[in-house]
This record gives sequence, C-alpha cells and structure tokens, in this order.
Amino acid sequence: MTKHTSRLCKGYLTKKESDGAPLLCVWFQVVTYAPFTLFPSPVPKDTFHQALAVQTHYNRLVDKISQDSSFLEEALSTTIKVDDFTGRLFNIYRHVLQEGKTQSIVLGLNRSDYMLDQNGDGSASLKQIEINTIAASFGGLASHTPNVHRHILKVAGRLEDSKRILDNNPSAGLAKGLAKAWELYGSERAVVLYLVEELQRNIFDHRYVENELWKRNIPVIRRQFEDVAKTGFLDQDKRLFVDGREVAIVYFRNGYMPQNYTEQNWEARLMMERSMAVKCPDISTHLAGTKKVQQELARPGVLERFFPGEPDVVDQIRATFAGLYTLDMGPEGDKTVAMALAKPDQFVLKPQREGGGNNLYGAEICQVLEGVKQSTERMAYILMDKVQPRPVHNYLLRLGTPLKLSTCLSELGVFGAYVRHGQDMVLNECAGHLLRTKSDEHSDGGVAAGVAVLDNPLLV
Ligand code: ADP
Ligand code: MG
Repeated sequence: MTKHTSRLCKGYLTKKESDGAPLLCVWFQVVTYAPFTLFPSPVPKDTFHQALAVQTHYNRLVDKISQDSSFLEEALSTTIKVDDFTGRLFNIYRHVLQEGKTQSIVLGLNRSDYMLDQNGDGSASLKQIEINTIAASFGGLASHTPNVHRHILKVAGRLEDSKRILDNNPSAGLAKGLAKAWELYGSERAVVLYLVEELQRNIFDHRYVENELWKRNIPVIRRQFEDVAKTGFLDQDKRLFVDGREVAIVYFRNGYMPQNYTEQNWEARLMMERSMAVKCPDISTHLAGTKKVQQELARPGVLERFFPGEPDVVDQIRATFAGLYTLDMGPEGDKTVAMALAKPDQFVLKPQREGGGNNLYGAEICQVLEGVKQSTERMAYILMDKVQPRPVHNYLLRLGTPLKLSTCLSELGVFGAYVRHGQDMVLNECAGHLLRTKSDEHSDGGVAAGVAVLDNPLLV
C-alpha cells in the first residue's frame, strides 16, 4: 500500500534489570500501513448517489441548527443535566452566546455516515448512522485508497473492475473549505492551527489535508491543548495567538471525548471559542452533532422548522433517518424503554459519545436499561433502530491480524465542507466519500477503534 500509513505509536521500550532498574530506554515510533480491505465492496449505485446528493442539505442543516439557540437549548436541556461532558460543552456555548459572537466566518467540515438497511424485496435503503461535526477523519487517507484497489484489481486480472473504482479526493475538498475560511480571515501571516493529541495515531490522515494547504502557501502549525493553555492569549481585539503566531483557524482534530480534557484544557477550549479565530467546528456546531440533537431532528415537524418552504429538502433528509427515540422522563420515554427491553436485538442504545465503542447492543441494552430505567440517568442515552445491512465477503488486512475471508458490513461516509460569512453561504460542497468495512463479529467501532478498515465502493 505504498507509503500511505496511518498509525504512529510512540512510547518507551524499557528493558529492566533484575532489580527493576531500567537498563535501556529507547524512544520508539512505529509506523504501519492503514488497515484496508483486499478488494472494494459492492455499494448500490442509487443509494451512493443519494448520499452524495443529500450532503449539501446536511451542511445547511448543521449550520442552521448551530445558529438556533432556542432549539439547541431545548433539544439538549435534559441531556446536559445528566451528561457531564455535554453539560460542560454547553456551558462554553452559553458563555460565548452571552459574551456575543466575535467571528462571523463559520467553517464546517463534517462527515455523514450511513449504512444500507436491507429491505424485504432485496433493495436497500440509505440510513444515517450519525453526523460527525468535529474531527471527522479519514478524508486524507480516503484520497489515496482508490489507487490501492485499482492496483490490486489489475494484479488480480480484473482490469474492467479496476477502471470502475471511483476517483475520490476529500483532502482537496476539505482543504478548499479551510483555504476559503483562511482567505476570509484575511491575514497572510495567520496560521491554521491543528489542535491535536500528543499520541497521534492518525497523523498521515491529517498531513494529506495539511499538504493541500501548504501548496496554497497557507501556514499550518500543530499544537496540543496544553500548548494553547501555556502560550495562548487573546489580544484586545480577541485575536488568538499561540506560540507567538496569530491563529486564523483552529481545526479541532481532538477535543471530542471527555478524556481529552483536563481543567486546563477546558480553559483553553473556552479561550479559543471566545477568540476571533475561525473554529472548525465552533462550539454550537460541535453541539449540533450530538446524538441527542440527531434524535430530536427525527421528531415530526422539526426539519420543517429549519427548511420552511423547502419540502423537497426536508424529504431528502428525512428519507435517510432511521427510527430514533427519546429516553427523556415521561410516557414517551417509558414507551421507548419498553420497546427496547422487548426486542433489544432490533435497537442500538447510544450515549452522547464519539470515537467508537460506546454504543450498546442486545443483552447489554437490557442490562443498562434495567439499571437506569426509573432514573433520570436514562436521559443520557438515545435509542435507535439497528440498521441491518446485507453482509459481503472480503479480506480485512491489518498488521498482526491473520488473513482470512470475513463476513463484513460496510459503512459509507460522505464529507461535507461549507463556509458561511455572516448570512452568506459562500461555499457549500460535498467533498468526497469514505467506505469503511468491518467484520460482522463487531457491532461497533470504526477504523480508529481498530475494528473497521478502509475500503472503496464498487458501484453495482
Ligand atoms: P461514534 O460516534 O462512536 O462513531 P456511531 O453512532 O457512529 O458512534 O456508532 C459507532 C458504530 O456503531 C458505527 O460505525 C456502526 O458500525 C455501529 N452503529 C451505530 N449505530 C448503528 C445502527 N443504528 N445500526 C447498526 N449499527 C450501528
Ligand atoms: Mg461514527
């Protein structure tokens, strides 16, 4: 897979003497290839194009939600009482709202994920799993996987199939959004700051997008929350400076999980949100991507509120919704509990978490719900219909994993990029796609969680 790698591990290798004193300490980094399927997986042409076509509507929807404070307040009012992480994000949101917005440039880079639900007649329906409005990843690597599969198919003697692998360049699409927002910010020396983790396993994914920026002479720096906390400040115009550099855009590739935050990091997040820098995403757009908001959007009449006079847009978005159910206290939530307990295999129970591996399935749903069903703790979750895609067969190639034919499920992601300046949407695009495939032994988990691998759709 050429030199396209995705995982960088750092750590100390310590060899110990018998008394436990370190004899040898080596700082090591391991670079390995990104996991991928041997062959591309089939995806029905119609549903693929449907997913691409609805993306610009999703971009608008996320952006509209982010501007609707009464909707966000109402939608998240119960969740923030019981989910500390969402509560803390919401506190920052309220702070910024009270203080008044400083920046009228909004940059959204998101990824809407889908699975194809099998219908009785053999057809499939596109169902959204979630939309990621912060740190949506794999746009960089997905720009390079088409050539991998083209090559493999040629070697396998499938030249015609090789020609059918679609071009895909989310790196360029995401960079276009970043570049547009950077230009609007209007200072040549100001940098794009990638806010990253210390141990960045997915660094090459970042780099492909970053390289697109350097090509346009847009300077990029990579810093952690801790760097922002130590060296960051706002000048009297609330311009953000980090390590002495003015920051035009903070591009969050970290900050979506509770474990990303110490008290100091929360302070740093607040400072960035209060600043003149363009935030990708800003705190309201981050909140618009919560699972609770996703569930509230599925209520009758809510999409109409965001798209008055645009019934076609409403229909296109709603067609991609799976069943979503509230667990708020009251008769509606009680009904959800009873439904989930009666048929746990038909649902997924989701807390307000990102990053894979947090959802609950089958017997776990019963265990958890039995424990929380009488208390407000249940409001931290939403319930969703379990999407049942048609399994396909493929080989999943991952370092250290034996090669075997697996029964697999695929998930299609579509990247969106938009820039709004005041009231004007100055860019609104579908920026490419991502196919991830995992063994059907796993209910949950993406590529970063070590479950899914990168793939390409072969349209059928
Ligand atoms: P996260 O924010 O942790 O990525 P997701 O909602 O994307 O949460 O769920 C993680 C994974 O769980 C998905 O990639 C998918 O494999 C599986 N999953 C989530 N929701 C459903 C669903 N409704 N039906 C089937 N599988 C699901
Ligand atoms: Mg996900």
